Amino acid sequence: KRLRVGVLFGGKSGEHEVSVMSGRSMIQSLDPCKYEAIPIGISKEGKFVLGEAAQTALQRGLVESLPSHTVHPGLGEEMGEAWSHLSPNVTPAHHVKYTTENHDTPKVDVIIPVLHGSYGEDGTMQGMLEMLGIPYVGSGVLASALCMDKIAMKQLFSAHGFPQVKYMSVLRSEWENDSQVVERRIEETLGYPCFVKPANLGSSVGISKVTERNRLHEAMQLAARYDRRLIIEQGLQVREIEIAVLGNDNPQTSVPGEVIPAGEFYDYNAKYISGESELLIPAPMSDAQRQEVQEIAIAAYRAADCAGLARIDFFIEKNTGKVYLNEINTMPGFTQYSMYPKLWEATGMGYAELVDRLIQLALERFEEQK
Ligand code: ATP
Ligand code: MG
Ligand code: MG
Ligand code: MG
Repeated sequence: KRLRVGVLFGGKSGEHEVSVMSGRSMIQSLDPCKYEAIPIGISKEGKFVLGEAAQTALQRGLVESLPSHTVHPGLGEEMGEAWSHLSPNVTPAHHVKYTTENHDTPKVDVIIPVLHGSYGEDGTMQGMLEMLGIPYVGSGVLASALCMDKIAMKQLFSAHGFPQVKYMSVLRSEWENDSQVVERRIEETLGYPCFVKPANLGSSVGISKVTERNRLHEAMQLAARYDRRLIIEQGLQVREIEIAVLGNDNPQTSVPGEVIPAGEFYDYNAKYISGESELLIPAPMSDAQRQEVQEIAIAAYRAADCAGLARIDFFIEKNTGKVYLNEINTMPGFTQYSMYPKLWEATGMGYAELVDRLIQLALERFEEQK
């Protein structure tokens, strides 16, 4: 019997388009002899789009809300019903118009939530899947939420003594109440250059590098559009090293890779638009540096209680060669060209085999929790 794999993509975050690309690659890689892929799109408004509409969304690269949402019968009673009770975005089952001839209602066996950013990578979707009792790929609620929030994540890192850049956090309300006081605090604590970031996002959305005072205001305003929690970090001259981790209680690391960003830093444009950033795999580095990166990656993965997969991002300071832990991404970009699958390919595991392994890890974790 083929395993029914629901692939969730799109979503309500600033990383919607990236997620659709990752979802497309993931679905294409699922061996049709072993798996039945069920695409499930989520529009930017948070509406679930299924069946043919989801296929169209995959081709277009964008999930659009439809006036009447068609629900694929493959979602089954369990998920369709639960979702219709849990979310005003889902049409209740008796109104459902089936989009295929297949009128029985088999259940999905496992979900791959290839969602990046809020309402996808941050534990909210994971919580819903837990409630519904459906096995899913990747980290659970705690690790997802913890790693999505850069402030909470850094507090965890410092509790474990992992090396990281100096940072401070600011609430949007503090910024709005007295921006001058906040600006002064940033200058006293960190100085320039600094990086201003929304605490809960990814793909560099809302992030600015600030090199002088008269650019700080707009950087803060931009980040504050995306989140009520902001983080400001000391900006270092760095090489960017990323490593892939795979596993549940006994995680393994890939070889580390290096990103050579096209622009001033690895911003959204350098990641997805310019096409001029380079990935160096494996990253040229000393044995000692590689070992340090691998050890910290495993320790950080365990500290956050990650499961399934994570891509862990590091900096190596150019002048000193010192290694800094930057962040854990619990659902990294997953297109054929993304760093995470490329790192495993260079370590000896191809894309399709990697997805197989992730599904297996999801099922193992689910069994263990029962
Ligand atoms: P991802 O797509 O990896 O999830 P993200 O949105 O979570 O990205 P970060 O990885 O924290 O954001 O930062 C994005 C990029 O900004 C980094 O890859 C790097 O180029 C630059 N950057 C961020 N923080 C710093 C720093 N403290 N010093 C130097 N460069 C930095
Ligand atoms: Mg990130
Ligand atoms: Mg990310
Ligand atoms: Mg990053």
